[in-house]
Amino acid sequence: MARSSTDLPRMDNQPRPRRAPAREATRVAPGAAATLAAPAAEPGKPMKPMMRQYELVERVRKYNPKTDEGLLNRAYVYAMKAHGEQKRASGAPFFSHPLEVAAILTDHKLDDATIAAALLHDTIEDTGATRAEIDQLFGKDIGHLVEGLTKLKKLDLVSHEATQAENLRKLLLAIAEDVRVLLVKLADRLHNMRTIEHMPPEARRRVAEETIDIYAPLAGRIGMYELREELESLSFRELNPEAHKVTSERLEALAARHKDLIAEIEQQLVRKLAKSGVDAKVKGRRKRPYSIWRKMERKAVGFEQLSDIFGFRLIVKSIPECYRAIGVVHTTWPVVPGRFKDYISTPKQNDYRSIHTTVIGPGNQRVELQIRTEDMDDIAEYGIAAHALYKDDVGSPAELLSRESNAYAWLRRTIALLAEGSNTPSSNCSRTRCSASRPRAS
Ligand code: MN
Repeated sequence: MARSSTDLPRMDNQPRPRRAPAREATRVAPGAAATLAAPAAEPGKPMKPMMRQYELVERVRKYNPKTDEGLLNRAYVYAMKAHGEQKRASGAPFFSHPLEVAAILTDHKLDDATIAAALLHDTIEDTGATRAEIDQLFGKDIGHLVEGLTKLKKLDLVSHEATQAENLRKLLLAIAEDVRVLLVKLADRLHNMRTIEHMPPEARRRVAEETIDIYAPLAGRIGMYELREELESLSFRELNPEAHKVTSERLEALAARHKDLIAEIEQQLVRKLAKSGVDAKVKGRRKRPYSIWRKMERKAVGFEQLSDIFGFRLIVKSIPECYRAIGVVHTTWPVVPGRFKDYISTPKQNDYRSIHTTVIGPGNQRVELQIRTEDMDDIAEYGIAAHALYKDDVGSPAELLSRESNAYAWLRRTIALLAEGSNTPSSNCSRTRCSASRPRAS
């Protein structure tokens, strides 16, 4: 099944509300990747000052004391000079873009080559820079990444079906060669989506469609859930501002109504667990408008229950503590049948591990819980990138990734299958499009 032209009403046919898109009303729940949720500069407000060279280096040094500062500095200066006076559509210096992309990747604690490639990612395409020059100045590894990113830039993934399938194949092959290409591409797309209000109107829809159809599912497939959620949220707002607004407002209202109950549940959880000697951090997790809206679409139900809008996460010290915690929870409150899942015993293919359950908790409300260790929490947030963290092991991050990450191994297998499999566009699309349920007017 290709693009949903037959079974879903195309959004292009819907009258577009002319009003300005509602501002993102959702605040990030405590603990939910505050680093990724930097709000986009609002139109009319002064732009945030560009990050300085030493600030970028500092961000890297915090997680990687062995960083090659000289390399980062050279890439910074080279890209800044190459982009020169170029401006973004917002009027900001163009260089602010690759710099923000690099900054996003520092939140994921990526290696020097990836950060340098992020700084350089638009130089071959948009400036006089060449692959040979980049190879010479920064080495073949970085040259290869930048060239991969240059090729991706030319792909239009939401064009006619035949070329779309071919382009998708090219995208996947570039990723298979080095998954860091995808990481930079995702950060690039995230920054472009955060600043989408400056894009020409005709490009906005295409970019948002491509983001929600291709890049957000890919982020999910490699376990980068926070990134996927932000990409989905920004695309949703662009593609269906009305639904986004209604869902966000309702979410806000319900969260406000349940505020005391949420606090009460948190306290009870901590108390019960502490009594059994389990030292757990409890994090509240507000669900995102897009996931709520998609569920409403799928199941044709509204949202009323606390568990529709809010979940809890218990972070404990060890795997045995996970099972003690689930024991405490299940002996304290009745379990909702069919909701218990043990992804610690059987991890998902993208390495995600957690115990999930829903119980009937205080106030007779369903309470949705995820229980996991700190390490599992890192994987759940950063996915594949969590494996690229610096370790004292020998081996480049790329090797580390392929050695340690099941998600990467799985991705490569999938890509190999796709590449050698059927050449018909339809089968290619359905295999890669994951759960591309697209926002449409309801
Ligand atoms: Mn870019």
